[in-house]
Amino acid sequence: MTSPARKIRWRGTGEYRDDTEALLEHPGDTAAVIRTRPRSLLIRCPDGCGDTLVVNLDPRAGKAWSLTVRDERCTLYPSIWREDGCRSHFIVWRDHIVWCGRFEYGNEEPSYDGRLEAKVIAALDEATYRSGSDIAIDIDEIPWDVLRVLRRLVRGGTVEEGDKGRRGHFRLAGG
Ligand SMILES: [Zn+2]
Repeated sequence: MTSPARKIRWRGTGEYRDDTEALLEHPGDTAAVIRTRPRSLLIRCPDGCGDTLVVNLDPRAGKAWSLTVRDERCTLYPSIWREDGCRSHFIVWRDHIVWCGRFEYGNEEPSYDGRLEAKVIAALDEATYRSGSDIAIDIDEIPWDVLRVLRRLVRGGTVEEGDKGRRGHFRLAGG
């Protein structure tokens, strides 16, 4: 198998699925369907299988992903996970495609900004477990950035993660 795409490549926008899909050529190519409002994101599957993944962006049409564009780079939350076909599972994080499981070896994450640590700590207290994505919304940051900072703080002992039903929820240690 050839190596998968490690970054998305932005190809623009269209009004309907067909004209938007025509913009995609290579694995990782990405374009948005925008008709009055953002409808979906089309991604040529980054594993090279040739399929087009349709990521819903419109909460009125069902379960929707959040798309954040910062510094002209795209982030999607949560992860993309095809449960059939090629079963690709990856996150889109500041244009990087970070694979889960398959292809994980060789992942490249966007660079780390240590200034975020203070902001994340300020959003936590010792009493309440909060989810990484809630904290990200609160402080207007990208969920994957916030989760990476949280995991680092957990390793350093400043923050603790809940167990069982509270996995992915965090509070200040020492409560
Ligand atoms: Zn695929």
